[in-house]
Amino acid sequence: MSCLTYLSIGSNRGDRLGYLKYSFERLRLILKSLTFSRIYETDPVYYLEQPKFLNAVVSGYFSGTPYELLNKTQEIENSAGRNRSTSVSRGPRTLDIDIVLFGNKMIKSSLLTIPHPGLKERKFVLLPLLELNPVLKDPATNTKLWELLIKLENQGIYLYNTHGK
Ligand code: ADP
Ligand code: MG
Repeated sequence: MSCLTYLSIGSNRGDRLGYLKYSFERLRLILKSLTFSRIYETDPVYYLEQPKFLNAVVSGYFSGTPYELLNKTQEIENSAGRNRSTSVSRGPRTLDIDIVLFGNKMIKSSLLTIPHPGLKERKFVLLPLLELNPVLKDPATNTKLWELLIKLENQGIYLYNTHGK
């Protein structure tokens, strides 16, 4: 059995667009019917003294457990030159892949929290996520995600123009 999952992808270090494209190509081999949102350029929200991010969301069907998916996404992050040991928490990174939703599953463990804890407060996740599926709900509360999005303040998120780049 496979499960529809949504992943948030981010990069703010080195060839940001190249890392996003790299993640799409690698995820294509793991997720069936991979679909991706448009790409957004976003101001950093937590640790402010760092370059702007490129963000996108992808969806696809995964055959396996959420932990197996996490292993695979971390392997992709590592192969994109992400160095966990030296990196500042929430600081610059070549590639960040977060599991936002995994079907309607709810998980809270030391390794994995699903839905991703940042989902409801981060426009750079909600906006591209709703682009892929405008009727998504938070599985924990059944709240419509677009209702959460419209309540958020401006967070500095702009459509990224990839033409000619
Ligand atoms: P962040 O994305 O929060 O800036 P990291 O990418 O370094 O930080 O992730 C830190 C840890 O978060 C990972 O090692 C992973 O075990 C954990 N984690 C918890 N929930 C999730 C999730 N839904 N998706 C991805 N990682 C998660
Ligand atoms: Mg992460």
